[in-house]
Amino acid sequence: MSVKKTAYSCQNCGAIHFKWSGKCTDCGAWNSLVEEFAEGGGSHFTRLDDEKIIKNSSVKNSRIVDLVSLNGQVQDFPRIKTGINELDRVLGGGLVQGSVVLIGGDPGIGKSTLLLQTANSLAKNNNSIIYISGEESVDQVRLRAKRLDCDCESIKLASTTNVAEIIETVKNQKGNPVVIIDSIQTMFLDGLSSAPGTVSQVRASAGELTIFAKKHNITLLIVSHVTKDGQIAGPKVLEHMVDTVLYFEGEKDLHFRILRAIKNRFGAANEIGVFEMNEIGLSEVSNPSELFLASYDYKTSGTTVFAGIEGSRPILAEIQALVAPSFIPTPRRAVVGWDLNRLAMIIAVLNTRFGLNLFDKEVYLNIVGGLKIIETSADLAVACALISSARDIPLENSTIAVGEIGLSGEIRMVSNLEARFKEAHKLGFKNCIIPKANEKNKNFNNIIKTYPELNIQTISHIRDLNKFFKK
Ligand SMILES: [Zn+2]
Repeated sequence: MSVKKTAYSCQNCGAIHFKWSGKCTDCGAWNSLVEEFAEGGGSHFTRLDDEKIIKNSSVKNSRIVDLVSLNGQVQDFPRIKTGINELDRVLGGGLVQGSVVLIGGDPGIGKSTLLLQTANSLAKNNNSIIYISGEESVDQVRLRAKRLDCDCESIKLASTTNVAEIIETVKNQKGNPVVIIDSIQTMFLDGLSSAPGTVSQVRASAGELTIFAKKHNITLLIVSHVTKDGQIAGPKVLEHMVDTVLYFEGEKDLHFRILRAIKNRFGAANEIGVFEMNEIGLSEVSNPSELFLASYDYKTSGTTVFAGIEGSRPILAEIQALVAPSFIPTPRRAVVGWDLNRLAMIIAVLNTRFGLNLFDKEVYLNIVGGLKIIETSADLAVACALISSARDIPLENSTIAVGEIGLSGEIRMVSNLEARFKEAHKLGFKNCIIPKANEKNKNFNNIIKTYPELNIQTISHIRDLNKFFKK
């Protein structure tokens, strides 16, 4: 008699628990544990099967692996240009033949649109494309393709959710096609009894597809939905098994979409591509700074322009702050596009080291255009926006600010100053507030000489900001 083993897997992080509890002890998510069964043999990567694998393994039959020297010849990865420059940039110069790319994002953000346009662009360059849709019927995909004006002749389309069927179908195709799976949460493997979308199905399906792709040198693009309520397993549980993880971000009601590389075995992580969503699909934005500053008005108080670096690319973004009196005991603090804890820190530093008391004020901070900034060098720009709003004094015309703020109020050095200056100069900015600590940098004088039109002001402590906000 076979005994069914049950376990509870967290739909957020994929951790396996042998007892149900309301909270996942691994990632802290509430209500994310779902009962799953481990059945059948095979190569399903659930932890329940680990025991079995260990029992069956034997050291005796293993082959000896060749050890080579570290300083040998390096092979260049053959890349397929997608023809969409922003996507190629994020991928590190194009799709690597035989690699597996995961594209995550909220449902409805435009992942399918992006992939259909990519498929179209690839097909135009005589690549063979197979588009597997598990979400929509063939007719629905065709309709979408018509709307996006995609020439659908050479893209092969199928609507199925069975992984074994997909593998069998792709095997019978000539050449090394690019296969698009939309989405992994709808896929299932026969051997597992759990429903599609659960951790074990998502992980096993992706594992099976990845092994197949690697073996046959097939390039795989996998779509994965991000869910906040934990109903279906998110891309987090797959990140370790694919080569590249891209996230498609943006607010649904805004036009801009940002494609960000979270992990890339064949290029730099954190590289971003910017797109604009319009009636005919996604169009590339080759100069995002212009877009993010489109409605920037230097005459209003509470705004500062930050010269940031996303991956290898400088991007100017407008930071808006609003400081308003509060009538409740705990004043509201809200942030869009930045870290709330970091804002709390800046507010505390401003209070203690600068003498600006915001404890009885509501504070709102917004990075305009839907950009998410993770750099700590945005601290100075945020501080400027807060002071400017609190005192109702706008910063001088065409000024950018960049610098990290320490707890004692000191302004710390930032990297990539030259790239930031270059972008600021390109967009006609005249004044830069930067950390004095950067003067120690060997190249500093050379950088200054390169941009004689820029009026560069260095500050070492947050109290030095006073001179910019005097009436
Ligand atoms: Zn968890």
